[in-house]
Amino acid sequence: MLVVMEKNATAEQIRAVCDRIESVGLTSHPIPSPAGRVAIGVTGNNGTVDAGALEGMPGVAECVPVSKAYKLVSRDHQAESTVVRIPTALGEVRFGGSAVAMIAGPCAIESRAQAFAIAERVAASGARLFRGGAYKPRTSPYSFQGLGESGLKILCEVREQFGLGIVTEAVDKESLDLVERTADVIQIGARNMQNFSLLKQAGRSTTPILLKRGFSATLDELLMAAEYLMSEGAREVILCERGVRTFNDHTRNTLDLSIIPGVHRRSHLPIIVDPSHGTGRRWQVLPLARAAAAAGADGLMVEVHNDPFTALSDGMQSILPDEFAQLAVEAGQIATVLGRTLN
Ligand code: PEP
Ligand code: MN
Repeated sequence: MLVVMEKNATAEQIRAVCDRIESVGLTSHPIPSPAGRVAIGVTGNNGTVDAGALEGMPGVAECVPVSKAYKLVSRDHQAESTVVRIPTALGEVRFGGSAVAMIAGPCAIESRAQAFAIAERVAASGARLFRGGAYKPRTSPYSFQGLGESGLKILCEVREQFGLGIVTEAVDKESLDLVERTADVIQIGARNMQNFSLLKQAGRSTTPILLKRGFSATLDELLMAAEYLMSEGAREVILCERGVRTFNDHTRNTLDLSIIPGVHRRSHLPIIVDPSHGTGRRWQVLPLARAAAAAGADGLMVEVHNDPFTALSDGMQSILPDEFAQLAVEAGQIATVLGRTLN
């Protein structure tokens, strides 16, 4: 933290601020400037310093935080990029480093026949991770809420039959206990990104976690949510951009691809992109998937449905299996240009 004093702050006021800083066990470093304005550096803090106590003191102009409250997720803590490895019967899937991973499947598991039809097609196009919600956090209580435990059972059958790893969402403590026993990757959705008790519980799991960005969350808030997971012991955390709310009405959300280099600069964790929720429109998914791969995403998560017109959730943004086959080829080509491999 840097405490910037007003231009005409008196020596007594500067002294009082330094005394207050020292009184809580921190060290103050007054830095005079030729322009006459003094700034006081604060060191010795384990985390962020609470500006509240200093900001109201006489002579203080503003308090500027210089260090971030997150630690374990930051590149300062770990310079080398984390590579999250998911073993599947079809081979290891890696997120991060030179690897770009693909997750594909329906928004929700609707039936065994539906899940199998989609799984067969996405596996044939090279996907090794299958997504599908058994617990759906829907905006309306009257919308399809997911099959629950029987959906998880179908996901286990998909893994058994096709060798695909399973990515599925937990929405609360009860579903997390069940999802943990089924999934190869536990998904925490946008609506729960700041459900701190759920994050703490998920962070104690040994299963890798896919953390989706809340639709109004800043980069720092996303990283702080990941810090909750890591502070409980989780090490295999994958972040996911899925679009944020803006004034745009030609798209469901605005896919914020700038967060990819933003995360890579501040954190060692991999970040993937979900162009399905990010756009909400089938015809926007392929172009945005290409763009995400080009922007350096560590993976893509795409909703695919064999009959999107009758899907029980998110049909309008689900692409057909043939379109997914094309997306996988094109994203792979773009990854190659960047010296990366799609897996
Ligand atoms: C999903 O992946 O199906 C989902 C509900 O996503 P989000 O949490 O990003 O809305
Ligand atoms: Mn969905």
